[in-house]
Amino acid sequence: MPSKERLLDAVRERPLLGDGAMGTQLMLAGLEQGQCGEAWNIAHPEKVLAIQRRYAGAGSDCILTNTFGGSRLMLNRHSQADQVVEINRAGVLLAREAFGRRPGFVIGDIGPFGGLMEPYGDFTETQVRRAFDEQARALVDAGAEAIIVETQTSLEELVLGIQAAKEAGAPCTIGSMAYDVTLDGSTFRTMMGIDPERAAEFMQSRGADIVALNCGTGMDMTRARQAVERYRKVTGLPVMVQPNAGQPRLVNLQVVYDETPEQMMVGVVPLLKAGANIVGACCGSTPAHIRAFRQSIDAYQYENQAL
Ligand SMILES: [Zn+2]
Repeated sequence: MPSKERLLDAVRERPLLGDGAMGTQLMLAGLEQGQCGEAWNIAHPEKVLAIQRRYAGAGSDCILTNTFGGSRLMLNRHSQADQVVEINRAGVLLAREAFGRRPGFVIGDIGPFGGLMEPYGDFTETQVRRAFDEQARALVDAGAEAIIVETQTSLEELVLGIQAAKEAGAPCTIGSMAYDVTLDGSTFRTMMGIDPERAAEFMQSRGADIVALNCGTGMDMTRARQAVERYRKVTGLPVMVQPNAGQPRLVNLQVVYDETPEQMMVGVVPLLKAGANIVGACCGSTPAHIRAFRQSIDAYQYENQAL
């Protein structure tokens, strides 16, 4: 059911729980490396729905659509570019269905377009903007309550996604950066050298409603808390956080992530205390992680009410 409240109101009222990984869950469900996971919204909707139902069942308040690579430029690599609207539309409807009769927020997911823009790469700004416009419109038209432009590393690409979401009429626009811990471990910034303060100020100036971080390398729950603190220093906008379940490792040709739900959940309350408003997880996380997060968030809320 669509939520009666607006995401932007809910987020100012109580901490919300995001969802966990989609990509790594699709692989567990049989998607092979290099295949188009977004096409499963149409080819194997029951498999996508089963994953999202497990997140809804674990207590997620917000579920991201399975449309990370759903822009024309990404789908083109899998010869699926003629299905942009169908794939994104199906993504919204599946996430909505996952909530069943319970209210929940469907967040339309836009990932990177997967290349570099001129002068570093072959793509023009106009091509990328058009691709984001088309995807954002499909997601909003299908009923997404927000758009997240995620795993972003450059402000040039991020702004095109934010503009596309706003122009499409998204009720809420979220910008989400992927930070990597530097080699000496002293700090973190995106691959393109953007630090959290710069990103948050930029997103606010371009009209984002929520500033976020997700994925990244070495960004555990402690680093994520530091990122929230750094966002908080420069913006009053709500903050969303979705870190990975540790570092990926290759074991028997399978990518595995080591952080258990028990290990990650310890970091949830510190994130909330630092000012995070929506907490979920990214690559390697599972419904079990999200269920553990739910327990932490509920306990934290209960304590705060008791005071
Ligand atoms: Zn990730």
